Amino acid sequence: MKKQHKFSIWYVLIGVWGVLILHNMLVSMFATRSIPYSEFLQLVKEKKVAEVSVTGNMIEGKLNEGQTASDRSTMFRTVRVDTDISDLLEENDVKFTGRIDSNFLGNLMSWLIPMALFLGIWFFIITRMQRQQTGFMSLGKNKGKVYMDEDVKVRFDNVAGVDESKQELEEVLNFLKEPERFTRIGGQIPRGILLVGPPGTGKTLLAKAVAGESRVPFFSLSGSEFVELFVGMGAARVRDLFQQAKQKAPCIIFIDELDALGKARGFSGVGGHDEREQTLNQLLVELDGFDANEGVILMAATNRPEILDPALLRPGRFDRQVLVDRPDKKGRADILKIYINRVKTLEEIDTDKVAAMTAGMVGADLANVVNEATLLAVRAGKEGIRFSDLEEAVERIVAGLEKKQRLINPQEKEIVAYHELGHAFVAMSLAGTDQVQKISIIPRGIAALGYTLQLPTDDRFLLRKTELLNRIATLLGGRAAEDIVFGDVSTGAHNDLSRATDIARSMVAEYGMSEKLGQVYYAPPQKAAFLNAPGEPGEPFSEQTAKMMDEEIKTIIDGQYKTAYDILARNRDLLDDWAAKLLEKEIIEGQSLELLEAQVRRSENESEN
Ligand code: ADP
Repeated sequence: MKKQHKFSIWYVLIGVWGVLILHNMLVSMFATRSIPYSEFLQLVKEKKVAEVSVTGNMIEGKLNEGQTASDRSTMFRTVRVDTDISDLLEENDVKFTGRIDSNFLGNLMSWLIPMALFLGIWFFIITRMQRQQTGFMSLGKNKGKVYMDEDVKVRFDNVAGVDESKQELEEVLNFLKEPERFTRIGGQIPRGILLVGPPGTGKTLLAKAVAGESRVPFFSLSGSEFVELFVGMGAARVRDLFQQAKQKAPCIIFIDELDALGKARGFSGVGGHDEREQTLNQLLVELDGFDANEGVILMAATNRPEILDPALLRPGRFDRQVLVDRPDKKGRADILKIYINRVKTLEEIDTDKVAAMTAGMVGADLANVVNEATLLAVRAGKEGIRFSDLEEAVERIVAGLEKKQRLINPQEKEIVAYHELGHAFVAMSLAGTDQVQKISIIPRGIAALGYTLQLPTDDRFLLRKTELLNRIATLLGGRAAEDIVFGDVSTGAHNDLSRATDIARSMVAEYGMSEKLGQVYYAPPQKAAFLNAPGEPGEPFSEQTAKMMDEEIKTIIDGQYKTAYDILARNRDLLDDWAAKLLEKEIIEGQSLELLEAQVRRSENESEN
């Protein structure tokens, strides 16, 4: 709006200027009469001419008072014919001056036209760019990238499973609703609130809900959008954002992916990143400069708080951190209820059961599960979803899409069957492994040829050493089975191997579970990819320790491989039986899975005795 106003002033100025020039031109053209040269000579000789000014090819002059040249004008102009007329003028008492030829109009046009052209092109480009709202001419105005919602529809009821985070945000809500209650007694509201948690847990949703509940405008943008190609532009954007927000106060500014912008300074890859640093500095300046009691609340989200610049987390800046963690079983059930209520159902759905199947999933995944279930129901021509649709949806999301039509050759199928049963047998024989829920050799997704679905029945926060070892053994069971049955191994186990090695490495380096290395934390600190230059401190342990760690990891893996191998070798007959069954049915689940488990347990008990 401001810009348009400026433009109209320009137009007025140019208009006035043009009119003035035109006026002068018209006056000089009409007030001065052109006369023939002969008439001019005549007038001179009759001593009627008072003064003239002579240029190379024109003579302009004025007649004596009271004289008119054939009509009312006393000004005249004529084309000069003689080269030497000064004697004649002198003789007849005419005052005369010489003037260098200047073509005023021509001169004027010679710069007026290019300038007009230039201005025209300039206006054209500016208006085009304003319409597109991007590009370097829009400088700090970040209209295209800041999303402002004056009337947010999200409420706290739309967010579930994160009750503690909600409670912490309630205070902010009260402030936005009744700021006087806080300011009257000199209370200070936190300026910046950092929502920390894995992606998809509802951080954006929570920030929106705060805005929605308190009915204030919601500005949102992503940290990565702040970092521009040109140095200084991100900083201009930050300044602009805060200005806009202050005009709309009370309001909430939400910066997603704060880590993209607020990475610790001097931490970036090659050569540093001036632009990001400037932007970050500007953000810090703005954070310090505004008074939270004005009613602008800054919220930001990140899933990597550890890489944020410590300056951002100092008191007075993002001094309040709210953890938005993965939901627990009850939380998942609550989230599922929200989404299931929004779709049609054909039966009462036990959300607790679905929650039990979805350990580890976040809100976004659960929303996806319900959506996937409705798609399945529609595909089957049903009018609503049933529990079975949700079950199938969970499987799809856990293991990728079922591809019944994909053909694998019988030999490969056999290998896959033994491999999967290998996992299952080891898992069933060892205590403290996750319950096997399904064994399938129907290819899913891109990579997995078969899978053994093991889901934890409860959320786990602590794992004992034996449990970790058993997990490694289970992962290695697939390869061990191939080895025993075919005397050869395939590439199918590479994912298993990498997961097993990861666990073993963590046990040694992070959890202090290796006797040789003791209770020392060896995990290297986070480092930028290119910063490990000579002279910089590398791993915080010696080469000798590194070697010992490698050896320990190998010992763990070898030991567990042997455990898995022994279990399978002991149960070879049972393994063959069930492999035949699996090849025929492609899936083992439910009752036959229970039967398998009972047989494996019995056989293991017998071999123990
Ligand atoms: P984040 O910002 O943490 O990455 P979002 O808030 O963008 O996650 O979540 C993405 C979507 O997932 C939301 O729009 C919502 O549909 C769903 N969702 C995530 N968490 C929850 C939750 N706790 N309750 C309800 N829905 C959720």
